[in-house]
Amino acid sequence: MLLKQCKCGRDMGVRLRTVIYQNKVEIDHVPVFTCDFCNRSEVLPGVKPELTKLIGELGAKPEKMRLRFDEQSELARLMQMVTDKERRHEPVGHILEERINELLDMLLLARSLGDEPWAEDVMARLSQISTHAVHAYELKS
Ligand SMILES: [Zn+2]
Repeated sequence: MLLKQCKCGRDMGVRLRTVIYQNKVEIDHVPVFTCDFCNRSEVLPGVKPELTKLIGELGAKPEKMRLRFDEQSELARLMQMVTDKERRHEPVGHILEERINELLDMLLLARSLGDEPWAEDVMARLSQISTHAVHAYELKS
């Protein structure tokens, strides 16, 4: 389990939670450190850049909607996959490898189509995986 110490002195664990923005937008599967003792919670630092970007795109007066954070954040996606009931018995390394191969295929396709914005998006996802994959292992253990 991925742990962090809470201000109250207890350990915080990571969970995927629904975050509500402006009382209108529900963002599912956001990795959040949570303290079961005092209920303090904090978004995982590794996903803050993607969450900030997503909220920036929603603007100050968003429509009522529901989004999946795992579609924006590779780390949230990985956490979602390793904790998924159907994949619970698969090793994290296997799930990671499968996703990396999928992204590399997408990168190849994006490049052969000359679609630069898509290629850049795929590159950013690959770099999220290489930076934060360790959290997926910690979540599983
Ligand atoms: Zn606490």
